[in-house]
Amino acid sequence: MPESQADCLFCKIALKQIKSDIVYEDEFTVAFNDINPQAPVHILIIPKTHYATLDDVDDHGIYTPLFDTIAKIVGMKKLKSDGYRVVANCGSNGGQAVNHIHLHVLGGRPMKWPPG
Ligand code: 5GP
Ligand code: ZN
Repeated sequence: MPESQADCLFCKIALKQIKSDIVYEDEFTVAFNDINPQAPVHILIIPKTHYATLDDVDDHGIYTPLFDTIAKIVGMKKLKSDGYRVVANCGSNGGQAVNHIHLHVLGGRPMKWPPG
């Protein structure tokens, strides 16, 4: 699995080749504000390593830093008391638009269920 792919939007964001509003970064992950926010807080968390979809992940070790970063974002944005939602869309039925895996962290308003 390549570390990054030349034609991938989120690889370019991770490499700072495309500008984004980064709110947190460490060795393994980058978190940045979604360009089209669906809630007062809408942050995308990506691994720096490229995996197109959840089905392509061959090293489940990548999930630990991603979930550590969720916890950091929850702390930074003070989402713990009111709660929040974490979403991972996969494939066409899942509504995945960008083929570099990402977790949406949504907060700041009540969420409905089921999702559309
Ligand atoms: P998906 O539907 O693949 O789960 O979510 C992709 C998300 O990426 C969408 O919420 C969309 O608004 C966001 N997005 C797409 N292009 C860009 C971009 O260039 N910059 C940022 N910050 N977000 C983007
Ligand atoms: Zn990528």
